[in-house]
Parts: sequence; C-alpha cells; structure tokens
Amino acid sequence: MLKECLFCKIIAGSIKSEKVYEDEHVFAFKDIHPKAPIHVLIVPKQHIDSLAKLDESNADVLKPVFLAAQKIVKEEGVLERGFRTVFNCNPEGGQLVYHLHLHLLAGKQLGGGMGA
Ligand code: 5GP
Ligand code: ZN
Repeated sequence: MLKECLFCKIIAGSIKSEKVYEDEHVFAFKDIHPKAPIHVLIVPKQHIDSLAKLDESNADVLKPVFLAAQKIVKEEGVLERGFRTVFNCNPEGGQLVYHLHLHLLAGKQLGGGMGA
C-alpha cells in the first residue's frame, strides 16, 4: 500500500468506490467517468506503478487480473457480445493513475480504432 496512491486508498476502503468484484489478489470497481455502459477498473492489490514496472518478481499479478476480467464479463452477461481490455502506460499512453490497472469496457459497440 502506497500512502499517496488513490487506488491503494480505494482498495483499503478509505476512498469510496462502487465495487464490482474482489478476491485475494484483485479489486475491481466502476470507473468514475465511464466511457461505456460497463467500464470497470481491475486493480491488483499489490501496488505496482504501471506495466513499465513489471518484472519477473511481480508479473504474477497479471493472471488474477485477467481471470477477474473474464469473471466480470460473464457476470455482466457480455462475454459473447464482446468487450475490450486496455492498459494505459506512462504519459503518452494516457496513464493518469500510477497504480497498475486494467480498463474493462463493454455494453456497446466499441469503435474499431485503438483510440490513437
Ligand atoms: P488511466 O488514465 O490512469 O488509465 O485511468 C485512470 C482512470 O481512473 C480514469 O478512467 C478515471 O476516470 C478513473 N478514476 C480517477 N479517479 C477515480 C476515482 O476516484 N474513483 C473511480 N472510481 N475512478 C477514478
Ligand atoms: Zn497503489
């Protein structure tokens, strides 16, 4: 837990969020500015700044993040319709919060582009 990290505070419950899913490794909650009818942020409980800071010692955090994404889309009933997952990384990748998180977007026809 990083004292100054927004998502660490959300995981700890000191900042409120709309929780969608939680297990031992992962906390998932609704994005405050949703870009789709379903826009969930899936966050490993272990604080890692970004994908740029992954290495052999911490890369195991990704597995439960993707498994949580699959559980959530099943629960939301959009597995077959489809969904998108995105990691933003560093300034030109559009990252605003420096606690690794996977965006899960679903519930409408998403554009074919990559948002470039
Ligand atoms: P990033 O640009 O870092 O990939 O995405 C950060 C996301 O966090 C943004 O989509 C933003 O809307 C969301 N966000 C920022 N602050 C809060 C907050 O306090 N609560 C929630 N639920 N989402 C937040
Ligand atoms: Zn954090």
